[in-house]
Amino acid sequence: MIELLCTLPIERAEELKYFTDPSLFPSIVSEVLGRSVTAEEIIRLSRKLLDTSDRNALKYRVSFILSLDAKTETYLARKYSFVREAAGLEYRMEKSRLDYRPIVVGSGPAGLFAALILAEAGARPILFERGGDVDARKSAVKHFMNTGELDSRCNVQFGEGGAGTFSDGKLKPGRIDPVKYKILTEFVSAGAPEEILYRGDAHIGTDNLCTVVKNIRKKIISLGGEVHFNCRVTDITVEDHRITAVTAGGKEYPAKGVIFATGHSARDVFYLLRDKGAALEAKSFGIGVRAEHPQEHINRIMYGRYADRRELGAASYHLVTHLKSGRSVYSFCMCPGGTVVAAASDADGVVTNGMSTFARDGANANAALLVSVDSRDFGSDDPLAGVELQKNLERRAFLAGGGEHRAVAQRMEDLMNGTHSSGFGEVKPTYGRGCTPGDMSAVLPEYIVSSLKDAIRDFDEWMPGYYLPDAVLTGSETRSTSPVRVLRGEECEAVGISGLYPAGEGAGYAGGILSAACDGIRCAVALLRKG
Ligand SMILES: Cc1cc2nc3c(=O)[nH]c(=O)nc-3n(C[C@H](O)[C@H](O)[C@H](O)COP(=O)(O)OP(=O)(O)OC[C@H]3O[C@@H](n4cnc5c(N)ncnc54)[C@H](O)[C@@H]3O)c2cc1C
Repeated sequence: MIELLCTLPIERAEELKYFTDPSLFPSIVSEVLGRSVTAEEIIRLSRKLLDTSDRNALKYRVSFILSLDAKTETYLARKYSFVREAAGLEYRMEKSRLDYRPIVVGSGPAGLFAALILAEAGARPILFERGGDVDARKSAVKHFMNTGELDSRCNVQFGEGGAGTFSDGKLKPGRIDPVKYKILTEFVSAGAPEEILYRGDAHIGTDNLCTVVKNIRKKIISLGGEVHFNCRVTDITVEDHRITAVTAGGKEYPAKGVIFATGHSARDVFYLLRDKGAALEAKSFGIGVRAEHPQEHINRIMYGRYADRRELGAASYHLVTHLKSGRSVYSFCMCPGGTVVAAASDADGVVTNGMSTFARDGANANAALLVSVDSRDFGSDDPLAGVELQKNLERRAFLAGGGEHRAVAQRMEDLMNGTHSSGFGEVKPTYGRGCTPGDMSAVLPEYIVSSLKDAIRDFDEWMPGYYLPDAVLTGSETRSTSPVRVLRGEECEAVGISGLYPAGEGAGYAGGILSAACDGIRCAVALLRKG
């Protein structure tokens, strides 16, 4: 099979119904190849990405998988630079030879896909999750948003599906390989929209994610796996640098192979692993705020004269600048048409993040605006010093917000002028627990606030209109990724504790839903192959 890559101007895409009607594919493909191709020869649309690099001439980058006779395929691939051999995307299943039931800790993307691969291999994994199932979690999060009463066991960070369940579910697949394609097809068969198989800017939406994680859990159980909710792993037994047992929900379970996929917010797990002899190191991450602009404003900036075309969807942006100070400031986890989420997991901390439903039809666009920090900012060589910095800043944000998980929010103009906001203008903050108009310098260190100001100036140069007086900044955003890496060897086993496989974002080997799921699979395959 071959893959045909083409770039089409927006006007042509409009004629082709934005590639939503497969019956129009033969005409595009025949036009690009200059030869007639039938619908049967077109296997599928493999990529669709809106390119906004030139806002006066938006275009789509699309690709199709074709199945023609071998001679023609070779001829076309030799003749055209935009034709290449299609990547083989078939995922090769493992077969378990284990003489024990592996344990998985955490049901975020890393844990869930590790358990799925182990279950498909016939290993009958046992998964422990400290939070509740997704339905219980939805009620706990709703109760928190309405009352400020946080359940520290079950919240936006903890519970079935992990941190990403209440999110935009952006996937950013990049170049597809068999593991990524396996994950995407599992998401689709579990209820995610089919378009994630080909959209370069795919997103599942929190409304779909809740169904998706539940169905994957059911599949794991149908294949002989076990899933225990409200069952926190509180201890492990290590003998001769080898894990021999796990204590979960107050009960001890013998263990030989354990995948720890507990995420970046399970601080108790970082301390436990360190105390039990695992080697850890501090890792750089980002600290900042969540910035909100009117979505229509961002559409006008990114889509120019095409901003009125609803088929384009809510626009997104990605910005990064490297300041003279040596720090980088970047936009992160953009949620077009979304809301700002109260993503705390500690009773006395305020943490922001973002989410969108699949429709992305909210009035505001939001994205984190983060300043890079590293061990030079942590004030000690302790590998967990970054965790302490996060905790201090989240507590500061909690106090400055006035309690009940209210957050401080500031108009962009006031931040730039170093003045306290007394209210909000055109842009209304969407942070779920409510905002207290104020000053970010009461929440964040000076080096962060000054870096944000410098970055906003740079961003407004490259993306005129990014600076908007009434845009709102809500803080603090401290959990963009893990501040710690649990060191592991080539076969993914923890340095210092064999039989333990630190996986996913919390372990410092992933950032985002898709890469966490990939790392979960990597660890499951390593565990199976070790036998
Ligand atoms: C609000 C929000 C929005 C996001 N939006 C996106 C997005 O749009 N796209 C994207 O790619 N990424 C997004 N992310 C990031 C993404 O969610 C994470 O990168 C991803 O979930 C990491 O997966 P993980 O499996 O490594 O860890 P997690 O998803 O954090 O899962 C860890 C799991 O382990 C459980 N656990 C922890 N400690 C224990 C214990 N001791 N015993 C038992 N269980 C335990 C936790 O309850 C949790 O369920 C978002 C994150 C948040 C918070």
